[in-house]
Amino acid sequence: MASFDILVTGGTLPDGTVKDIGITGDRIAAIGDLTGAQAGEVIDASGDLVSPPFVDPHFHMDATLSYGTPRINASGTLLEGISLWGELKQIASVDEMVERALAYCDWAVSMGLLAVRSHVDTCDDDLKGVEALLHVRDVVKPYLDLQLVAFPQDGFYRDPTARANTLRALDMGVDVVGGIPHFERTMADGAASVRELCEIAAERGLLVDLHCDETDDPMSRHIEALAYETQRLGLQGRVAGSHLTSMHSMDNYYVSKLLPLIAEAEIAAIPNPLINITLQGRHDTFPKRRGLTRVKEMQAQGITVGWGQDCVRDPWYSLGTADMLDVAFMGLHVAQMTSPQEMARCFTMVTEENAKIMHLDGYGLAPGDTASLVVLDAGSSIEALRLRPDRLCVISKGKVVSRQARNDARLALPGRPDSVRRRHKISDG
Ligand SMILES: [Zn+2]
Repeated sequence: MASFDILVTGGTLPDGTVKDIGITGDRIAAIGDLTGAQAGEVIDASGDLVSPPFVDPHFHMDATLSYGTPRINASGTLLEGISLWGELKQIASVDEMVERALAYCDWAVSMGLLAVRSHVDTCDDDLKGVEALLHVRDVVKPYLDLQLVAFPQDGFYRDPTARANTLRALDMGVDVVGGIPHFERTMADGAASVRELCEIAAERGLLVDLHCDETDDPMSRHIEALAYETQRLGLQGRVAGSHLTSMHSMDNYYVSKLLPLIAEAEIAAIPNPLINITLQGRHDTFPKRRGLTRVKEMQAQGITVGWGQDCVRDPWYSLGTADMLDVAFMGLHVAQMTSPQEMARCFTMVTEENAKIMHLDGYGLAPGDTASLVVLDAGSSIEALRLRPDRLCVISKGKVVSRQARNDARLALPGRPDSVRRRHKISDG
């Protein structure tokens, strides 16, 4: 008779099937009907959703949980956020950054968010953020996969020491090459930065993830240069363009040429819906643009699109809870992904598709995959988006790392049930 360390029974998977999952050590050992199997611990997930963990492919862990220090962003714009962060990083210490980042990782684990790609600012001669987050990456490694991107926030060429410091950060062990071409002094400098950053990645065998065209300016076309350099250097499948908000405002004819180039280069897109809807369109009167890139249109071309979170309680965004379902919920609304198939896709975007973008090994619920999963108080992936429910149990690398009691509301109404959970029986189609 089969025996496991942990057996998760009766859970509904995101594809709607009901299966038991047996875990041995840090691996999924079996999945299917495991009736009669023995286990050190049995977790009854009957009626609940069991998913691979949430994944965030775009975050800023050096800035998180700093909201209000040294002041709040009065205009609500990207540019005031950048200048505010410039003040904050002068006064922040390595210890304080470590403390904020670890506190954020606690939030993430409690939400079943077990892999995060964080950009780390390299425009600081002391590289305090890099030192802090390299340390945090080691500390959280047993339970959270933290991937770091060397991010020259003030411009790879525009900031006088950014280029040298970015290279130094990569030498220190930062995983991915970042950039911000739309923030360079000229379009030409932006294109040159894309070229050099892709060459650095090709030489070092690294992935690329650029903040690309995070603007309402329809003429910001650095994604075109990124697609060109990716195919020129043979980096297909290893490059992501984050934000791509200018595409929202681009000419439709131009986009009809651009999307096949992105698809050919196998570039992934990472829109960040909470932040894009908050920061973009701030210079508009009415109609006021949404500022989200063309998600469904890219997916129709076969382009991988993930949803990123970007910010929680920092100079750019005052809210956030490390819940990737909040991110997908906003994306679903702003991109109008409202059919049952599109809603289900929004769930896979914050799980499987984000994992693919980060090149995570062993992600999933198949035998041999890393034993990481989350049990949610919802009946399906679409219901999870609607409820953004409690994470009843989170398992990371074969260990239970978070539990939360089911938390039904207690009603005091004559002739009505005494509790309610807001689940709904109607089929999601
Ligand atoms: Zn960002």
